[in-house]
Amino acid sequence: MRGLGVSPGIGIGKAFIIDRGLIDIKKILVDDVGKELDRLMTALETAKTQLNDLYNSTIDELGEKEAQIFKSHEMMLEDDTFISDVKNKIIAEGVNAEFALSETSNAYIKMFQNIENEYLRERSEDIRDVMDRVIRLMMGINSFDYSALENNSIIVAKDLTPSDTAQLDRTKVAAMITEMGGKTSHAAIIARIMGIPTVVGLNNITDKIKPGDTVICDGRTGKVIINPNAKQLFFYNKKKIREDEINKELRNQAGLPSVTLDGFKVNLSANIGVPNDVDMALENDAEGIGLFRSEFIFMNREHQPTEDEQFEQYKEVLVRMGDKPVIIRTLDIGGDKCVPYLDMPKEMNPFLGYRAIRLCLGNVEVFRTQLRAILRASVYGNVKIMIPMISTMKELKDSKKVLQQAKDELLREGIKFKDDIEIGVMIETPSAAIISDLLAKEVDFFSIGTNDLIQYTMAVDRLNSKLSYLYSQYHPALLRLIKGIIDNAHKAGIWVGMCGEAAGDPKLIPVFIGMGLDEFSMNSPSILRARYIVRNINKKDMEIIAKSTLDMENALEVEEYLSCLFADENENCLKTCKIRRRQQ
Ligand code: PEP
Ligand code: MG
Repeated sequence: MRGLGVSPGIGIGKAFIIDRGLIDIKKILVDDVGKELDRLMTALETAKTQLNDLYNSTIDELGEKEAQIFKSHEMMLEDDTFISDVKNKIIAEGVNAEFALSETSNAYIKMFQNIENEYLRERSEDIRDVMDRVIRLMMGINSFDYSALENNSIIVAKDLTPSDTAQLDRTKVAAMITEMGGKTSHAAIIARIMGIPTVVGLNNITDKIKPGDTVICDGRTGKVIINPNAKQLFFYNKKKIREDEINKELRNQAGLPSVTLDGFKVNLSANIGVPNDVDMALENDAEGIGLFRSEFIFMNREHQPTEDEQFEQYKEVLVRMGDKPVIIRTLDIGGDKCVPYLDMPKEMNPFLGYRAIRLCLGNVEVFRTQLRAILRASVYGNVKIMIPMISTMKELKDSKKVLQQAKDELLREGIKFKDDIEIGVMIETPSAAIISDLLAKEVDFFSIGTNDLIQYTMAVDRLNSKLSYLYSQYHPALLRLIKGIIDNAHKAGIWVGMCGEAAGDPKLIPVFIGMGLDEFSMNSPSILRARYIVRNINKKDMEIIAKSTLDMENALEVEEYLSCLFADENENCLKTCKIRRRQQ
C-alpha cells in the first residue's frame, strides 16, 4: 500500500488505532435559547483554558514556534464573526448549541476546502480540530486516552489533529499513518519536527489494520506493509538503520554554513507561495527566500488584491525573515495559472502566450500597484525584486521604467522605501539565456527557472505527461544553457541563482556547484539534504564532473552518470560521503 510520505524515516512496530469515533450530533429544537447560549460560552471558555494548557506544555516539549498552533486555535475561538454566526443560528432556528456549532463550522470547513492553495486548504483541519474539542466538551465526551500507548507503537488514525500529535509520547511512537492530511497539515509539520516517520492519505487504512498488527511504515516513500513476512522485516530493519543515520545527519545540518570542503559558499533558500510557507522555510533553516511566487496572492479571489493587501503580505514575509534575503517575483500569471478578474484571453498555446511580464506590461496599473506594495514593504527587511519570463531587453527596460515610475510616485507622496533594492530577472526562456550577457549588464542578479527553461528549450509542454520523457533536467542542451548563463552573469560581476525544481535535485546540485552557481532555491524540505551535499563535496572536483556532463549525448547518459557518482541505494545522494572520505 502506498500513501504520501510526509515525514521521512522508517517505523516498525505494533498498530495502535486511534478511533475517536464519530460524534452523533442531533438537531434538537429547544425552548430556552438563553441556556444554549450559556452552554456555548462555557464550552468555549473551557476549550480556551485547555488550549492554553496545551500551549504551555508544548512550549516545554517542543518550543515556542511549535506551540503557536494552539495559540492560533485559541484565537479561532475568539473570532467574533464566527461566534456571532453560531449564536445567530441558535437564536434564529431555536436549536441546540452543538448542532449550531457543528453546522456553522462545517460551512467554514467547506469554504477552506475549496481554496486552491494547499496550505490554506489544509487549515480546514485546524477548524475541525478546534470545533471537535468544543463539541465534545458540550456533550461530555472525553478526549482520546493515550496512556495505553506502548513502546514502538504505529499510530493509525483517520485523521490526526495537531492536539493529538502534540499529546503523543514521542518516545513510544515509531510512526504514524492517517487516511487524511497533506504535506503541510500541522500534524505533518509537527511530525517532521518530532522526527516521527509519517504517511498520510491512505484510504480506509483504519479498516485494514487491526490493533496489534505488525506494521512497517516508510515515511519517505509512503509505503506501508501490514504483517510483513520475514524477508520484508529483514530488509526494512536494515533500511531503517541506514535511514535513521541519514536523517540524524541531515537534522544536524541545521545551523551549519552552506560551504563546500574547499570553501565555496552558496546560499540555500526556499521557494514559497504564501506568507505561511515561511514556517517551513525557517523550520528547515533556509538562508533566505529565493522565490516568493507572488501570484498566489492574486489567485482564488474575485477581485485584484489592493496595494494595501499586498503590502501586508510582503511585509509579513520580510519581517519574519529578518535580515535574510527575500526575492519577490512579480506577478507570473498566465500559462496554467489564471485569475478571473484580469483581461486574459483564451489562447491556443497559453504557455507561449500572454503571461507573466507580458501581461504586466499590458496592464501597467496592475504591475505598478504591485511594485508600489513591494517598495513600501522594502523598509521591513531585505527584499529583492525579480521579473519573470523576460525574453527581450525591451521587456526588461520597460519593467525598470515602471519600477522607476512607482518610486517617483512614492517619493512625491513622501512614502519611505529602500532605494538600493536589487533587481533581477528569471532566466527561463532560451532567448533570455542566449542574451544573458546583455541582460546581465542591466540587473543585479539572475535566477534560472529550469521548470520553464526545460519546456521552452525542449519544446515540450511541462504539463503534458505523454511527453514527460522529453522533459528532463538532465538534458545536455539544458546544462549547456545553464553553464552559459552562469558564465555570462559572472563575467558581468553579478550573482546567479536557480529557483526551478532542478535546484533541489541531489544529483544536479554537485554539477551546478561545479558550474559556480551562487544560490539554490528549492522546496523547504529539500534544504538540509542540499546542505549536506554541498558540505561534502569539493568544488574543484565538481568542475570536472560538470564539464563531462556537457559532452554527453542525452539526458539518460547524464542521469546514469550522476546516479553512479552520487546516489546511494536509496537515491539519497549520500555517496558524497564516500567522495569526502576518499579525499581525506
Ligand atoms: C521556473 O519556471 O523554473 C519557475 C521557478 O517558475 P514557475 O515554476 O513558477 O513557472
Ligand atoms: Mg517559470
